[in-house]
Amino acid sequence: MQLLEERILRDGKVKDGNVLKVDSFLNHQMDVKLFGEMAKEFYNLFKDENITKILTIEASGIGIACITAQVFDCPVIFAKKSKTKNIAGDVYTARVESFTHGAFYDIIVSKEFLRPGDRVLIIDDFLANGAALTGLSSLVSDAGATLVGAGIAIEKAFQPGGELLRSKGVRVESLARIKSMSSGGIEFC
Ligand code: 5GP
Repeated sequence: MQLLEERILRDGKVKDGNVLKVDSFLNHQMDVKLFGEMAKEFYNLFKDENITKILTIEASGIGIACITAQVFDCPVIFAKKSKTKNIAGDVYTARVESFTHGAFYDIIVSKEFLRPGDRVLIIDDFLANGAALTGLSSLVSDAGATLVGAGIAIEKAFQPGGELLRSKGVRVESLARIKSMSSGGIEFC
């Protein structure tokens, strides 16, 4: 998506540890008009899939997921990050390794909101090693729901997540795919 790539080139900052900072329009301050254009792209890609729920992970995915859900006219569920193990049995849980913090955390979604008949589109801001997406997709399969695919804003294609998920048969659609990045510049696929 040209608009997003231009914005990444203009405002993205490459940090140590293969981290791209896009705080000025996506991860902290949010450009909702840009999100609207991204949502239209996701809609064009997945409009024939009868999506009933959009699933994301707190916190950075929520903004994009909400604007996207407006176009699909369906609810958004965000998986909560939990430090305490939930033993009540009323939630689906998965363990995820954080790309940006290195630590492990559990994500939870209430069984009330993810149902066997649901057709789920996962939306997230970044795809790196694929841990977040793998965790989210396991919540979907635990619920007996159907994972239609994943819509990602920025895929760092030089990291293994995209290939890993696609090789498992998940339809991953990324609006910007970064081939390489360094302090010298960013190159798209
Ligand atoms: P993964 O689980 O695929 O390794 O990483 C995806 C998650 O880590 C995303 O939800 C995102 O929040 C975070 N993340 C991964 N890489 C980056 C990055 O380069 N920049 C930012 N801001 N977040 C990232």
